[in-house]
Amino acid sequence: MTKKSIQFNRRQLLTGAATLAVAPWLIEGQIQASHAKAPMLGPKQPKHARFKLGEFELTNIVDSESFIDGPYPLIGKNATEQEVRTLMQQNFLPETKYQPGFTPTVLNTGKELILFDTGNGDNGFIPEPAGGWLAKQLLPAGIKPEQIDIVVLTHGHPDHVGGLIMHGKTIYPNARYIISQIEYDFWTAKNKHSGDIEKFAKVFVDNTQSLKDKFTFIKPGDDVVTGVTAVEAYGHTPGQLAFHIESAGNQAFLWADCAHHHVASLARPDWHCVFDVDPEQGAKTRARIFDMVATDKLTVLGYHMPFPSIGYVEKLNDQSFRWVQHSFQLK
Ligand SMILES: [Zn+2]
Repeated sequence: MTKKSIQFNRRQLLTGAATLAVAPWLIEGQIQASHAKAPMLGPKQPKHARFKLGEFELTNIVDSESFIDGPYPLIGKNATEQEVRTLMQQNFLPETKYQPGFTPTVLNTGKELILFDTGNGDNGFIPEPAGGWLAKQLLPAGIKPEQIDIVVLTHGHPDHVGGLIMHGKTIYPNARYIISQIEYDFWTAKNKHSGDIEKFAKVFVDNTQSLKDKFTFIKPGDDVVTGVTAVEAYGHTPGQLAFHIESAGNQAFLWADCAHHHVASLARPDWHCVFDVDPEQGAKTRARIFDMVATDKLTVLGYHMPFPSIGYVEKLNDQSFRWVQHSFQLK
């Protein structure tokens, strides 16, 4: 079609509705042109996802959507940068940026409302305004902070405890608080830490000091409530706990920080994570937990997996696993 004939057709279109039957696609083009100045709206992702697990209901909530530098050397510090970049290429991912999930979980057992981890708050790894969104995202998810009965801290890092106290205020005034004794003792030890650990310990103490009388301590094998059992996940931090969740024969596994990148951490559990206080123990724990959830085909809640941070693990061989992102409605 020549340019002249296109111009002719456009003039025709303006002459009457009868033309609609002839060339509706050109009318459509005309309509789009008249709305071309609509503003760009920017990327948009959901901020919460809810599903049922037997009689339980679980809600995962976004605390930050920040892109960070990595995965190398955050993951794969004991590998070469090229090895990590190649793995990203093979998986259609950027080589030097990624968007980890920061995904606290709210579990409603029907009797108790339990929050696992509190996000970055105003002094975590990704503080307000880029992160620390949990407190503001609870209401849109249908949950009032004062309804939370129990806050479980999987471990003491700033992106998990930073949202206990915000702007000097307790966010969960009616809650009691649960953490492993080993973890609490590590972060509250006086004159023991230096460098990053010292900084993280200050965030932990700042967020927990005013709540310390409301803390109780658990160890692997203990129940938070019926159906929620602590599992040893040491290495990332000295006392990190994961949680096995079961209701009416349905099972899920909340693995806290056993993985920090949905491809790199799974494909190479032996690659060290710079956030692990003991990288060798962290690697062993990762491999053990991946193997267990793959073998038992458990639904996984993974704090740093991409939102909605729900998925499964496939075992590829004795050294390597694959994250399978949740892609259907769990009932
Ligand atoms: Zn974390």
